[in-house]
Amino acid sequence: MRPLADRLWWVDEVAAGAGVYLWQDEQGLILFDTGTPWHAHAILRTISREGFDPSRIHHIMITHADMDHIGGLRTLREASQARIVCHAVTGAILQGRLHRPLGLGLVGRLIAGPSRFLMKTVFRCIPIEADDLIVGDRMLPGGFQAIFTPGHCPGHTSYYHPETRVLITGDAIHNRARMLGLPPALLLPDRAAAVRSVEKLARLDVGLICFGHGEPITEGASAQLRALAQRLQAAVASQPG
Ligand SMILES: [Zn+2]
Repeated sequence: MRPLADRLWWVDEVAAGAGVYLWQDEQGLILFDTGTPWHAHAILRTISREGFDPSRIHHIMITHADMDHIGGLRTLREASQARIVCHAVTGAILQGRLHRPLGLGLVGRLIAGPSRFLMKTVFRCIPIEADDLIVGDRMLPGGFQAIFTPGHCPGHTSYYHPETRVLITGDAIHNRARMLGLPPALLLPDRAAAVRSVEKLARLDVGLICFGHGEPITEGASAQLRALAQRLQAAVASQPG
């Protein structure tokens, strides 16, 4: 695990899947996202090896219900008995009551079915019941604020800690080779919402950004968010019609 701030670690052993972050507070530990199904035990082993007790995880906060972010949820909840926090829409996807569009057009529709099938059967990521469903941008345990950031996935939520200026973006923003951007078009069913979500994040005072995919950044975090928002707005403005 790589320490990122006073109370924050990146479980970078599983970074090939998706960003998993561990936060320590007075009550114990909070885990942000749970990686792919095949990384669940690696996350548990890593946390234990670094001297943390997985049973001290009191909340698991989920950014969105894609397999690379909720894959380890069942195993990690069983190991910790933690409460699952996510947006109400994410909760419905986790229950299997709602299906997320994977992307625009035919390819998006073609891969959505098999992906759902795998999540239900082979990997058993869903159905699973969340405990605390978020509606709106509200305060959460540990001093985190939920920031509703749809676009990549309905119900997508980022988590912001105003006191330490830490932002966990999930897949609202990717960091590809130090270039911030939106997820690939294939995985962006609502681009307009995704642009608005970035604009929302760019209004925050941020010192450290932790992504669903890509290296965390500390230098000029807020400025990079504002630059991305401007770039995306300019792209929208230059579109014909
Ligand atoms: Zn992802």
